[in-house]
Amino acid sequence: MNYKYFTFFALFFTSVITGSMAQLITPEDHFGLKPGSDRNLFLYEDLINYLQKLDKASAKMTMRKIGESPMGKPMYAAFFSNAENIEQLDELRMINKELALNHNLSEKRQAEMIKKGKVFFVATLSMHANEVGPSQAAPLIAHKILSTNDPDTLSWLNDVVYMMIPSHNPDGMNMIVNHYRKYKGTKYEGSSMPKVYHKYVGHDNNRDFVTLTQKDNQAISRIFSNTWFPQVMVEKHQMGSTGPRYFVPPNHDPIAENIDAEIWNWIGVFGMNMIKDMTRKNLAGVSQHYAFDNYWPGSTETCIWKNVIGFLTECASVKSATPVYVEPNELSVWGKGLSEYKKSINMPLPWEGGWWKLSDIMDYEISSTMSIIKTCSNHKEDILKFRNDIAKQEVNKGLTKAPYYFILPGEQHDESEWIDLINLLHRHGIYRYSLTKNIVLQGRNYNKGDVVIPLAQPFRPFIKEVMEKQKYPVRHYTPGGEIIKPYDITSWSLPMHKGVTSIEIDKRSEKLENSLRKIEGLYRPSKKYEDDFYAWFFPFTNNESYKAAFVLKKKGLKVNYFMESSNEKKGGFLIRKQNKNLKEIEQFINELKVKPEILKEKPDHNLHAFTVPEIALVETFLHDMDAGWTRYLFDTYAIPYSVLRPHELKEKDLSEYDAIIFPDNHESIYMKGKYSSDSYYRRNTYPPEYSKGMGKKGKQNLLKYLNDGGKIITWGRSGNLFTGKQVIKDKNDKEEFKLPINDRTKSLKNKGLYCPGSLVEIDIMDKYDYSAGMPDKIGVFYRGRPVYQTETPYFDMDRRVIASFTDENILLSGYSENLELIGGYPAMIWVKKGKGEMVMFTFKPQFRASTPVSYKLIFNSLLFQKK
Ligand SMILES: [Zn+2]
Repeated sequence: MNYKYFTFFALFFTSVITGSMAQLITPEDHFGLKPGSDRNLFLYEDLINYLQKLDKASAKMTMRKIGESPMGKPMYAAFFSNAENIEQLDELRMINKELALNHNLSEKRQAEMIKKGKVFFVATLSMHANEVGPSQAAPLIAHKILSTNDPDTLSWLNDVVYMMIPSHNPDGMNMIVNHYRKYKGTKYEGSSMPKVYHKYVGHDNNRDFVTLTQKDNQAISRIFSNTWFPQVMVEKHQMGSTGPRYFVPPNHDPIAENIDAEIWNWIGVFGMNMIKDMTRKNLAGVSQHYAFDNYWPGSTETCIWKNVIGFLTECASVKSATPVYVEPNELSVWGKGLSEYKKSINMPLPWEGGWWKLSDIMDYEISSTMSIIKTCSNHKEDILKFRNDIAKQEVNKGLTKAPYYFILPGEQHDESEWIDLINLLHRHGIYRYSLTKNIVLQGRNYNKGDVVIPLAQPFRPFIKEVMEKQKYPVRHYTPGGEIIKPYDITSWSLPMHKGVTSIEIDKRSEKLENSLRKIEGLYRPSKKYEDDFYAWFFPFTNNESYKAAFVLKKKGLKVNYFMESSNEKKGGFLIRKQNKNLKEIEQFINELKVKPEILKEKPDHNLHAFTVPEIALVETFLHDMDAGWTRYLFDTYAIPYSVLRPHELKEKDLSEYDAIIFPDNHESIYMKGKYSSDSYYRRNTYPPEYSKGMGKKGKQNLLKYLNDGGKIITWGRSGNLFTGKQVIKDKNDKEEFKLPINDRTKSLKNKGLYCPGSLVEIDIMDKYDYSAGMPDKIGVFYRGRPVYQTETPYFDMDRRVIASFTDENILLSGYSENLELIGGYPAMIWVKKGKGEMVMFTFKPQFRASTPVSYKLIFNSLLFQKK
């Protein structure tokens, strides 16, 4: 009898004796209906409650808390395996960690660990909360695994620990379920949910795995970087209703250059087994090599840069839980890799159309999950050996191939972002060192305390990917043919996006390697002050200084600032040293990343009182992720604001606001509450009460607010609200005018301008207060639209260019075509109308909270005037 079967019988009898099998409550009994039945969805708490009941009843499962959602819901991982493995979970975890990180493991020790270890396979379910299927299938999968008597499955579970993250986005899950229930039985059943299905970022929660700003993503990322070190990962999604039924890897080209060939091969093995196993079960329409490419590290799949065999699956959607009927002629393909909806090597068994239900999604989810568990088991020893071998290989590459180190000098323009980067790398499981003495390397001086990131680390691919500048892997469909265009953005270089100087060293240095001390944990400077000084000083150059100003002001302290108009806008915020609130101030200062400077005496500049502006942020109902990211930015920097919906601009007295912000969005969504363009009619999937825009009346109110002395800030496409003819109507008066800006987007696009999301260089004029704390040149995140040009103004209007695109070497990181066309064009414009002013950014200054390099331009626009 082989060992696997022996364990099966032993466990079977143990279970019978302890009676645990009898107590397993079925999903039907717990939820009152079968998960996946038409038009029914359960809430996150019901799901967790069910899993907790199973946990109590079965020795083959356990749950661990892994963190909290942004809105404070506990997040869990549920572990499933045989009882013995669950019993020894922490021991197995240590084996995972050794295999993942110990590149000095001897052959003998490696062999022992492979024998003892288990493959950990983590599945994160429904991060996109409107893709309800995977989380709704969780109870079925859990119950099936725990109650099965199938000898094959039981034998797989001897080798595999299945880690289920029941919901990657618990806040969004409940929002979606509540929205569905609200409209169930009405004509808007299955409609899109207004607002973002997340505290801040909605669908963009899958674009945050490099910057790790959101708590749910931090919880998931810790699994790969710091705690469990699983070898296999799947993130489970859904796609449109009328294409293939299911997507499994491999993905389409292009693929990331920094990932080892063997990772791609393993991903292919899992995908090929899934399509084989699912087709065997008559699940039609499984596709591969389709639509989704694999060069970009922003999603949960960022773990492949940390040597995890990671991939996604995508199932065709229903309308939340409402079945859809698909006519065969409606079946179509939309992405690269399949050019017709026909039998092909990338989809050998097309689905023929008809009813598609939530229960179908359940079948595909169960089947794909079981297939992955099976593949993990069939290749257990190979996978575990691979995990340690690749750690060794990556370390070896770091010792033998350039680049060898990235150095982050302590001397930085924005010290707070430097510290933030050092700590972010720690959260990513990267080892960081500081120099123990001053050294000279390739003709450049480095100082004691400068931070060194050696590439000889198991997670080398990740370090390389996020520290170097990006070069898009250009591939063509056919030799000499069309370029395969990027699916998403093309730049994520952390030093560049944060404005941190990082130097790549292409030669190994013994001198350097002998002068390194490992940085343990989070990097924090010590803070001790002598007693006698005038004030604490927070220079504008640090992003964190703005947070300090807002927080201390809120604590009731008097905050001042001064500008230093030399070549560089220095200046900053200052707080007089005082005995009042001293403890409170010191406590706050101790929690800051950067120690404030000390002013011995009163500075020789005009001191201005810092006042907190009244800010309105306009957020549309249509899954407005850019507005959500802006809320996240403001909350992070303690900047108070109110959210206005576009239709509220009609009636609201806007004069109470010092500034009104329009994040990037199509102007039709602001105006009409739905997308519209001249070229086609896009149907609206939201209930009508959420399809409301500001209309002409709101626009009038807004222009009057501007004319009377208000401030409007726009970025990205929202500036288009203010191009072309503008009208202000009063009782007797009607003023028709045009602001001194022209939209050149179309004409440059026609000339071939293409920029899918890259870091582009701008020059910043240093004579305006808007440039406080900014260097002369930075890279900003730009998506090729809009392009504006200023024009000579008339009457009570004016304009100044605050920043413009550079003329030469404009592309800093990422991909673009004909980008030189925008050289010299304005990137940030100040516009005056009447007594009011506007600040218009053509780039995205807070893009997905991944561009701290340009945050100060937003803060300055809110706080200062053009002078
Ligand atoms: Zn998705």
